Amino acid sequence: MNTTTFHSEKSWIDALILWSIHGNELSGSLAIERFIENIRTQAIQILSGSVTLISHCNPEAIKQKTRFIEDNLNRCFYEWQDIASYEGELARQIMPAFEGKSHLLDLHSTSGPSIPFLFSERRNFEIAEKLGVPHVVVGWNDLGATSIAWDTENYMNKKGGWGFTFEAGNHDSPDGTENAYQVLLNFFANLGIIDTSYFQSLPGEKTFIEMTSVYTCKTGEFEFKLEQLENFSPLKAGTLIGIDGDEEIRAESDCTLVMPSLRKINKGEDAFFIAKLIN
Ligand SMILES: [Zn+2]
Repeated sequence: MNTTTFHSEKSWIDALILWSIHGNELSGSLAIERFIENIRTQAIQILSGSVTLISHCNPEAIKQKTRFIEDNLNRCFYEWQDIASYEGELARQIMPAFEGKSHLLDLHSTSGPSIPFLFSERRNFEIAEKLGVPHVVVGWNDLGATSIAWDTENYMNKKGGWGFTFEAGNHDSPDGTENAYQVLLNFFANLGIIDTSYFQSLPGEKTFIEMTSVYTCKTGEFEFKLEQLENFSPLKAGTLIGIDGDEEIRAESDCTLVMPSLRKINKGEDAFFIAKLIN
């Protein structure tokens, strides 16, 4: 885990950036390194407030090129957490960095094919829609599912701050680093931490997607039956999405598929999300 902080002379917003909460999501790495280099060489200046960047949040998982070692680190962020695992201990080391910070951007990438998108809760939407990411997904925390609770974004929200999670595309996307770097600049420019001239929207039409449900694997034997597993694919009511053990899982109504997980899904883990488009 590497922590780098840059302060300006002027007190203002103190922002926190996390990268590699999941060990196989590499897009944020080069983005953060490039940003740090540009600050060090004074190509970019911190005008007000401060930024704290924590990279390599899950070092052992990075080394093993895997999502996590024992527990999903992005489910370990709560004050009373005493999980006796590698990731439980990591989260306890990272949580103190949230103290005194008001805005969080956590950089991720997806296992399945996807355009880049931003997660935001409804209360933070006013900021989210100005971060230059055309696809914004809201309502994660409102799903209230225990399998997806205790992530970094909502840890920041519960502390009274503003948390956002950026998914830079799928893990191997050649544009992932560029996307992550631009959104990092947009985040800081929007908050007045760096000059607004660094802001540039990612291409695409503004689309707002509201999560309506999460499908949690019941058997540990989940298999997708869809031909198209692109994130944000439209699904017609009745479409066979997958098989969980012997059970057929179908779309209950016309909807949008969000984040189908292409890795091996264990019992109790999220397999995919269902959402609707909001215009
Ligand atoms: Zn992730």
